[in-house]
Amino acid sequence: MAVEWTITIEGRNEFGDTCRKEVRIDKSWKGLSDGDIGLSIADGKKIMAALQIAVVSHEAETYSLFRRVCPDCHTFRPVKGYTTRKIRTVFGTVEVRNPRWMLCRDCHPGMVAAFAPLNEICPDRATPELFELTARLGSMMPYRQAAKVLGEFLPIEPTETYATVRKRTIRVGERLDEQNAKEERRARAQRDDRSQLEMQLPGGRRKEFVISIDTAHVRSADPNSARNFELVVARCGRGGRGDVGGRYFVTSNTDQAAIRDRALHALQQEGYCDFGNVTVISDGAEILKRLPRAMLKPTAHIIDWFHIAMKIQPMQQIADHIVRSQSDPFEVLPTIDRDIRSVKWRLWHGRVDGAIRGLQPLLARLKDSQSAGEFSIARLYSLASQLLTYVHSNRGAIVNYGKRYRAGLRVASALAECQSARNWGSDSVLMTL
Ligand SMILES: [Zn+2]
Repeated sequence: MAVEWTITIEGRNEFGDTCRKEVRIDKSWKGLSDGDIGLSIADGKKIMAALQIAVVSHEAETYSLFRRVCPDCHTFRPVKGYTTRKIRTVFGTVEVRNPRWMLCRDCHPGMVAAFAPLNEICPDRATPELFELTARLGSMMPYRQAAKVLGEFLPIEPTETYATVRKRTIRVGERLDEQNAKEERRARAQRDDRSQLEMQLPGGRRKEFVISIDTAHVRSADPNSARNFELVVARCGRGGRGDVGGRYFVTSNTDQAAIRDRALHALQQEGYCDFGNVTVISDGAEILKRLPRAMLKPTAHIIDWFHIAMKIQPMQQIADHIVRSQSDPFEVLPTIDRDIRSVKWRLWHGRVDGAIRGLQPLLARLKDSQSAGEFSIARLYSLASQLLTYVHSNRGAIVNYGKRYRAGLRVASALAECQSARNWGSDSVLMTL
């Protein structure tokens, strides 16, 4: 016993041509007891491949015919010749007739030129959907595996090798030109589901895009002028800690949209195609805090470790001095150096709550000891409360720096990295605990 299934697809174009295609599936009852119920993936591939051949061929023929008519005199254009062309789709490759039409001799006297109409509807020989699908899979798994997965579910022939997947992934990334990218950016920035379409560009996590950005106050050169400038200094680049290069820009325009556009433009010159993670490293300045929210998702904001370290360093120096010299405050604060080191350790590992829990009793003890009138205690108290305020107001952007550091990722702006390297010979002063 067997059942023969017939699937029929029928199309009619405006010229009155009809196209009819039948796909037959034989299902024997023998397999039913083996659990062979319903259509299988193989059946699905067979059906979709057959239907796709019918639809693509019909569309290609119809479009070619439509383009054969000269729009000026409404007669058929002369035939230059026919070749075949393969159009790759998610449901298989379809080989179609690829005509070349001449320009109409009456309407274009003296001009001998021909064109292939199919170039107009499928310039890439693969549909945009196949491009995007391959690119998306290629961004989630190794190219070789992506090619395999595609062939697993879709009637895509084995010639869709991993090299093809790789080529398409990279090509899709390259193809969004400036204009396109700008429009996409505006439209998509708000959309939550955008993250699902994100692709990590080839090259691994270490190759994240980083905007390190700082504000600088510049006093007017004229001592009588009260005018100060606020400058925004940014570096936009790709790569991890210590990687050189990148684009710099300086602007006195502190308008958020202007900074964002400058930064995105610079990133694009570094190869950013609106995909992949962007990390903004900045100090806690208000104008810079808003920048990551204006960027495309996923954008992470990280407080520059340099700014945290530079707040702790003077505290550490005072505490070390107290302990080393065993001066008066030592009696009331015997573990002050270790207490501060522990706060730094917690911040370095992104343990913000722990750091706050460590700072609060420290501040209380410093306050109690202030009666001793010791200058170093007053100074420590002031520095510690500044640090607490800074940590509180930036808590969402204090991350596990240790983890990033060990992964080779940036934890400070490139300028800060340079600065610390110049001042102390290496970045170890800021990083070690
Ligand atoms: Zn004509």
